[in-house]
Amino acid sequence: MEIFTKLRGMRDILPGEVGKWQKIEKIFIEMSELFGYREIRIPILESKDLFVRGIGSSTDIVMKEMYEFKDKKGREVALRPEGTASIVRAYIENQIYNKEKISRFYYYGPMFRYDRPQKGRYRQFYQFGVEVLGGKSPYFDSEIIFLLNETLKKLEIFDITFLINSLGCKNCKVLYVSNLKNQLIKVSDYLCNDCKVRVEKNPLRVFDCKNENCKSLLKNIPSIMNYLCKNCKVHFDILVNFLDKNTINYKVDNCLVRGLDYYTKTVFEVISERENIAIAGGGRYDDLVNDMGGPYIPAVGFAVGIDRVVPLVEYKDKEKERTIYLIFLGEKAKAKGIEIIKKLINMKINFETDYEDRKLSEYLRIVDKNKNKWCIILGENEIEKGVIILRNMEKGIQEEVKEDEIVEKIKEKLNVKIS
Ligand code: AMP
Repeated sequence: MEIFTKLRGMRDILPGEVGKWQKIEKIFIEMSELFGYREIRIPILESKDLFVRGIGSSTDIVMKEMYEFKDKKGREVALRPEGTASIVRAYIENQIYNKEKISRFYYYGPMFRYDRPQKGRYRQFYQFGVEVLGGKSPYFDSEIIFLLNETLKKLEIFDITFLINSLGCKNCKVLYVSNLKNQLIKVSDYLCNDCKVRVEKNPLRVFDCKNENCKSLLKNIPSIMNYLCKNCKVHFDILVNFLDKNTINYKVDNCLVRGLDYYTKTVFEVISERENIAIAGGGRYDDLVNDMGGPYIPAVGFAVGIDRVVPLVEYKDKEKERTIYLIFLGEKAKAKGIEIIKKLINMKINFETDYEDRKLSEYLRIVDKNKNKWCIILGENEIEKGVIILRNMEKGIQEEVKEDEIVEKIKEKLNVKIS
């Protein structure tokens, strides 16, 4: 019979690997909470229009990569390709701006993009992100970059570079984009077909093109820095000054525009030097809340690709080491086993067991293969004598412990601290 396999670009994260994911998620959550961010949970399915309006109709994400379909009532819906548009929707819909001046959110979960899968690129991938809404100061941009840098340091990821740029506010952007368009029209014959359309619809998107020819043509285009207004220039300088003072490894990259239309002023990306891949991206989106029907609320945020962080983190799975294996030989032992299990639960000690009727030698092979450090053996003999065997698998030694002393013994051996 044909067996089912996962869809292209999807993956299973198996129990042995999940510990590492949980470690990374935990550190991102702990660090964000230290900085005063609170979790927000948004739906995976939204109206397609939210992303068209939020991310931009001529972005690759919206034009090529959305998982979109009609629901049973014929409404156009889409699996979220990113988190910011939904967060802004929730922020406006729940009028959070009336409740607090500055909102700091973090979120975590799967995102979906129908892109061509390759190393580090999946169709379902996981993003951890933060958003600050309500603040226009460049120190908010600095804060999220600092938070991200500190978190990566905590995960012992050091070989990273922040690429940063400014896209300016609405005014400088309009000036720059019209100039860019004029420049690009001059070289239009040499651009790829996609870029020819981009020049007409949304010239900034030419910077997203992966075609080497288009990339080299862009090298001669004047930098956006020449078009920044005074306010945007000061904003950028304060951020750069902060990065310098706090020894955050960065490079200014005037070709960095990011693939989403909502960015204004600061944009940044974090590159892992080891893997030569972007592990995070973010920036300011001062007009998005207003463009989506809310009041004018400036904002800034980032999203980290957790799938890309995982290969950079060292992790030793201690799960099995911490888990005590219970061997119950015979019916009486199985029935009595629940008393031992209750004691272990009270001590918050992980355990695993197997209720099949196996021989002791087979059980010991299983425990060995499992890499459990400790196991308990209880058979008819032990029940009669009122003892339990506690065995150290690493050392291959075991001792008989009186039934009513087992809790103390396990506490001592496993070094358990009871709160
Ligand atoms: P973006 O939402 O495009 O700004 O991306 C932010 C980060 O999410 C990127 O820097 C990647 O680390 C990660 N990311 C984006 N798309 C994918 C994907 N298809 N597969 C894995 N990670 C991704």
